[in-house]
Amino acid sequence: MDATEVEVRAVRDVGPATVALELATPAGFDARPGQFVQVRGEVDGEAVTRHYTLSSPSAEETFEITVGVDPEGDLSPWLAERDPGDTVGVAGPYGDAYYEDEASVVVLAGGPGVGPAVGIGERAADDGSDVTVVYRDEEPAHEDRLRALEAEGATVVMTTEPLSDDDRVREVLSAADGQPFVYGFADFLADAEDALAAAGHDPDAAKAENFGPS
Ligand SMILES: Cc1cc2nc3c(=O)[nH]c(=O)nc-3n(C[C@H](O)[C@H](O)[C@H](O)COP(=O)(O)OP(=O)(O)OC[C@H]3O[C@@H](n4cnc5c(N)ncnc54)[C@H](O)[C@@H]3O)c2cc1C
Repeated sequence: MDATEVEVRAVRDVGPATVALELATPAGFDARPGQFVQVRGEVDGEAVTRHYTLSSPSAEETFEITVGVDPEGDLSPWLAERDPGDTVGVAGPYGDAYYEDEASVVVLAGGPGVGPAVGIGERAADDGSDVTVVYRDEEPAHEDRLRALEAEGATVVMTTEPLSDDDRVREVLSAADGQPFVYGFADFLADAEDALAAAGHDPDAAKAENFGPS
């Protein structure tokens, strides 16, 4: 699919080295939280494309992506410097690992995987589903939205440790009964699959999206 130029409506700091971009939804674009788009920017005169996952509960009128900013990276620092009214190219949505109205969701997120965790959590909570979020990050982002989910009845565990080493994570995953979702870089996916297996879940049944190399 060709990229559509869409307007950046807002860029917000949502944690250390993490920004959320609110983008105008292109005509005919329908996406669910957990799906991803290809974003294209013109960086120093060259087109650069990377993938980013929806972090909003829906894509009506606008949708949101959450970007972990790698200061050495090509696209993420450029995205963090956008202003409202700028445009970026968007193609998609893509991906199979998205929320499909499950009655109970168990979302495991590492680093910028917190984006789909809050998007899915909010959509599922709105639908009256059971929501569990397990989030591993040295410097967490989207804490306000995670706390709001918790206040609505979701179970939210944040940890800086590998999930497999965290007793509270094991306790919560053992008690959780629902569709597992896993989002993050490759090292986190391996950790999350071990933690799911240790808590009695089938890791192969998880809807997982790998953000790339660890
Ligand atoms: C399906 C999918 C969904 C994703 N969703 C998200 C999301 O929601 N949020 C998010 O933040 N990210 C997401 N990602 C990751 C994202 O697409 C980018 O990979 C990430 O933002 C880094 O891009 P960048 O251009 O800033 O860095 P890059 O330019 O890709 O560089 C990344 C790092 O690699 C190093 N590097 C680059 N080239 C070399 C080289 N040749 N040798 C050695 N080191 C090198 C750089 O110095 C930098 O530290 C997703 C990825 C996929 C595949």
